[in-house]
Amino acid sequence: MRALLGILIIAITWTEAAWGQASAIPADMRNRVTTELAPGLYTFGSFAARSIFVVGEDGVIATDPVNPDFAKDMRAAITKITDKPVKYVVYSHQHWDHVRGGKIFKDEGATFISHENCVKHFTADPNPDVVMPDKTVKGGESVSVKGKTLKLMYFGRNHGDCMLVMQLEGADVLYVNDLVTPYSLGLGFMPDYNPKEWARTLGELEAKPDWQRMVGGHGLEFGKRDAVTQRKRFLEQLMAAVKPEFDKGRSADDIAATIDLPEFKNVRGYKEQIARAAERIYHYYEMGW
Ligand SMILES: [Zn+2]
Repeated sequence: MRALLGILIIAITWTEAAWGQASAIPADMRNRVTTELAPGLYTFGSFAARSIFVVGEDGVIATDPVNPDFAKDMRAAITKITDKPVKYVVYSHQHWDHVRGGKIFKDEGATFISHENCVKHFTADPNPDVVMPDKTVKGGESVSVKGKTLKLMYFGRNHGDCMLVMQLEGADVLYVNDLVTPYSLGLGFMPDYNPKEWARTLGELEAKPDWQRMVGGHGLEFGKRDAVTQRKRFLEQLMAAVKPEFDKGRSADDIAATIDLPEFKNVRGYKEQIARAAERIYHYYEMGW
């Protein structure tokens, strides 16, 4: 098994050290801070959850409110920077761990925006803390406050089916929410990801030349382009390792117990998550989901 997996690891050009930033999860996961990444573009949050917001001359575009407590802190963080109102809240996708807590912004008159595919999820599985979108987009649109425009891009089904990737016009930063948690393997069981479409999307992000940094919905303030590459390589190698073992008829438990991807051993979360990640991929090959 190990020999078989070994031949899949072709020419490891990235050493574990080269990925950098491999370390334990911070002790204080919930210490929320504001970091300016480009003029008028901020990320707010902690290792546990984060969002971005954009400050223009006449108002603010906020993104994922996460939950009521997070949203209250994000509102206070915005107030420290500007006295202008939050005019828009844009949801990255439909998952409750990112979109609860918008009421504080609704109360000041913000318009809520999501991809059109999110609405059916909010309707089928309502959550009292989720403010329904006022407006939906298909991707390719943008939302503006005076002097700042946030581009909303849609790359299809990847994590859920309504993920908007966002980019402040003129800034080299993408907001990709759960598509990448920089330099971390995140949740091994990968809820609501389609592995094939996820890898495709990461390839499309890699091919997009106009960015250098990315913000995810969890983890560090930002990663560089290599964070997207790392996530894509991990996913591709994981799929390539599991598929032949699945084809041989080995069980999910058996594959999970022996999976070994040496390139990623020092990446945050590897030890804790690799077995569940392998099991998730097994079920993708079993069910097509
Ligand atoms: Zn999610």
